[in-house]
Amino acid sequence: MSTLQEVGDRDGWRCWLCDEPVDPDMSVNDPRGPSVDAVTSAKPKKGAAVPERLAHRACNTRKGAVKAVVPWPSHLFVVDPAPIVETVERLTRKGGREVVARCPSRDDADEAAAWLLDRLSRLAPDLRATTEVKPGGGQHLVTLVTR
Ligand SMILES: [Zn+2]
Repeated sequence: MSTLQEVGDRDGWRCWLCDEPVDPDMSVNDPRGPSVDAVTSAKPKKGAAVPERLAHRACNTRKGAVKAVVPWPSHLFVVDPAPIVETVERLTRKGGREVVARCPSRDDADEAAAWLLDRLSRLAPDLRATTEVKPGGGQHLVTLVTR
């Protein structure tokens, strides 16, 4: 177990789920206050430490009531977006490539790819991945590829 201070410093006082700043001085009882979330994957390795991330109290998934969901931003024109947390988990475990979004235009796809890479730099700093944008089926596919 790490302290809230350690986890907060490591994550730059930004919530791992909603990507918004977390105020270290706010009460831990406030919904917008800081809390430590435990990131559990579908099949945690036996004896492996459960990674801890900083989250707003209201965003925290530790209670098990909700699955971790990282939303795609509403300003991106993305059709059929993949669930980010599950995709990242799979690629972290096995590597490879997965289509994560379809976009109507090249510009939309480039914007979605850039947003995703920036988001992953904080969400999954250990995942060494890059994005590819390719036309397909009259749309533009954004693919996440591990290196
Ligand atoms: Zn949050």
